Amino acid sequence: MILKGNIIYMCDKDTMIIRDKHYLIIQNRLVKGVFETVPERYQYEEIIDYGDKLIIPGMSDLHVHAPQYAFRGMGMDMELLEWLNEHAFLEEEKFSDEEYSNKAYKMFAEDLLQSPTTRACIFGTIHKESTYALAKMLDEMEMITHVGKVNMDRNSSISLQENTIESIKDTEWYIRTVIENCKNTKPIITPRFVPSCTDELMIMLAELREKYNLGVQSHLSENPTEVEWVLSLNRGAKHYGDAYDMFGLFGGNHKAIMAHCVYSGEEEMERMKENNVYVAHCPNSNFNLASGMAPIRKYLQKGIKVGLGSDIAGGTSISLFRAMQDAIIASKMNWRYLDSDKKPISSEEAFYMATMGGGSYFGKVGSFLEGYEADVLILNDEKYKCPHSLNSKERLERLIYLAESDVILEKYVRGKSIYKRN
Ligand SMILES: [Zn+2]
Repeated sequence: MILKGNIIYMCDKDTMIIRDKHYLIIQNRLVKGVFETVPERYQYEEIIDYGDKLIIPGMSDLHVHAPQYAFRGMGMDMELLEWLNEHAFLEEEKFSDEEYSNKAYKMFAEDLLQSPTTRACIFGTIHKESTYALAKMLDEMEMITHVGKVNMDRNSSISLQENTIESIKDTEWYIRTVIENCKNTKPIITPRFVPSCTDELMIMLAELREKYNLGVQSHLSENPTEVEWVLSLNRGAKHYGDAYDMFGLFGGNHKAIMAHCVYSGEEEMERMKENNVYVAHCPNSNFNLASGMAPIRKYLQKGIKVGLGSDIAGGTSISLFRAMQDAIIASKMNWRYLDSDKKPISSEEAFYMATMGGGSYFGKVGSFLEGYEADVLILNDEKYKCPHSLNSKERLERLIYLAESDVILEKYVRGKSIYKRN
């Protein structure tokens, strides 16, 4: 298959490639390359000509809570811990009801399909059946997702607090059911955060991770009160990250994504680098819950892996265009108010984090370099009028700053069209 249009992608953190009226050649789900003319060996392949449209790689949302989608944009006048108790937990309790959860997850999945996201790491709730139903729903839509049944056996609301042994049994049932029945969805180990999980639960989750060779997703150093709480709960931990690492849930021989990382100190950052832990940067959520501004320039300079997360419903928008815009704004505020040595993130760097940075969690994903998996977005920006003509880079920059989701004309995952706007 060959897609023709104005093609933009990153080939590393600093290098953006722009090729107008070029051909993106895809074979066996993989990118073969971007060419000015179709090479002879591909001359009998079908060409889909998108004219003047922009063609970019699919985006990876490294942190999103599917059950919270229903109340996004509400109850945001609080900080994290109060917000969890007053809003998030109350909504998540409803997912023990199959009818409610099916209805809510369908709304989430349908909107995700129309968004720029082609791959995502997603939190469900503690409920194994409804989280499996979500995994299956996404699997059938053919997005590539890692979906986790959440674990919580302490400090939760009464109806969300699990018995430790039951929590592990349910998690293993969930993992096996997803592995047996889903092609595009994988399970992922999902301790909610340290305050929600006893040491016993953490130890057993690490065993499951090892047994099924899975990744881990959780939260890290999001809010100052939370960080203090973690260190008072786990007095042996050198820092918040250590409270995962001491149980084997913080990267190293497996992949791990930690959302937020706003208050990670030098030692925690070093451990993240050593263990290859991914930062899921969720700036919109960090603004809404007054958490702060994550030092993303510092992570990038240290060579720590960074991707973006919508963090619904701490974040209000499922669009990673919004996450890109907010990542840039957060870095500008960080530079102005906190650390004038750390220059703001450019639009190229934000585009890198949304595509190639987060995509690397899934393998060779998020670029059009040869051998990358062919996740592709066709963008229609016609609704943004301009009296003079814009080049492709200006058009992309404007899409990032205008940050809307409804510009996706068509979406391909692994070379297959899975969504087309009517
Ligand atoms: Zn979160």
